[in-house]
Amino acid sequence: MDERLLEIKDLYVEYITDDAQVFAVNGIDLSLNKGETLGLVGETGAGKTTTALSIMRLLPEKVGLIRKGTILLDGRNVTEATEADMRLLRGETVSMIFQDPMTSLNPVLTVGDQIAEVLELHKKFKTKPEVEARVDEILKMVGLPPERKHDYPHQFSGGMKQRIVIAIALACEPLLLLADEPTTALDVTIQAQVLALMNELKKNLNTAMILITHDLGVVAQTCDKVAIMYAGEIIETGTVEQIFSGDRHHPYTVGLFQSIPDLKKKTRRLHPIDGLMPDPTDLPSGCKFHTRCPHCMETCKTMNPQPYEEDGHMIRCHLYGQGSQAATD
Ligand code: SF4
Repeated sequence: MDERLLEIKDLYVEYITDDAQVFAVNGIDLSLNKGETLGLVGETGAGKTTTALSIMRLLPEKVGLIRKGTILLDGRNVTEATEADMRLLRGETVSMIFQDPMTSLNPVLTVGDQIAEVLELHKKFKTKPEVEARVDEILKMVGLPPERKHDYPHQFSGGMKQRIVIAIALACEPLLLLADEPTTALDVTIQAQVLALMNELKKNLNTAMILITHDLGVVAQTCDKVAIMYAGEIIETGTVEQIFSGDRHHPYTVGLFQSIPDLKKKTRRLHPIDGLMPDPTDLPSGCKFHTRCPHCMETCKTMNPQPYEEDGHMIRCHLYGQGSQAATD
């Protein structure tokens, strides 16, 4: 039987500044089993990174607030954990890879010292030689020669730096890896190498992963499940097959697929989604997508749709449910 690792229920997250209240995450439910990979997809500002930072409890202090909801990680409620508990959970149970390897590494420490720091913090290895041996092993695992542990981050290329960031994240073999656009800052060939490496390590270590991305191609290659986010809500979830091959979709998902080129079809023009993501300080009433939706009805302007689920495929749209018509075009 699949073992549940992460269960997010009715999560609301806000950022409070002097000038505004930003509604970043608005009542999401999400779950993940051990060893599974979930692609979290959406435009910039959809709330993907805020969701990941909430799981890590790394929201900016006093500004980012979890207003409501629970995050159960390996049976522990992250929203109620103390900071001391979180320090133990981070690294050992959950780790995060950030978008830009340039800013994730400390420029004045050798890469070996940065990997060793994580191992020492979690007291995984007792003696210095044991730590050194594990650093060598991890560098080999991500395809870097162990003797390079004495080098500083600036002595590595962008792709190598991202391998080191992955090595640090996986040093304590966490149960869950949050990868926030891990390949966006890399060029295409290096992107493919880093993704292949992450897939291989994930399989070897049975690590579950949430891959945050706006790239549907990366999701198709890497993930078991997909969750599409829009304006802080999850508007569609399903298996990769349901999202990529099924014919029933949320109009926003239809728009996302229409805005990427299809090599099998002759297309003169792509069809981007009209309009912009709503201002998170002033979200529209009803369905958050109604200002951009080609199927908008009167009810959509006032009533937020409830999730409609069939065979584990969830769509949040008034077009679905009893006597509704699917949006497939
Ligand atoms: Fe469009 Fe209405 Fe569905 Fe929202 S609920 S996506 S506005 S059809």
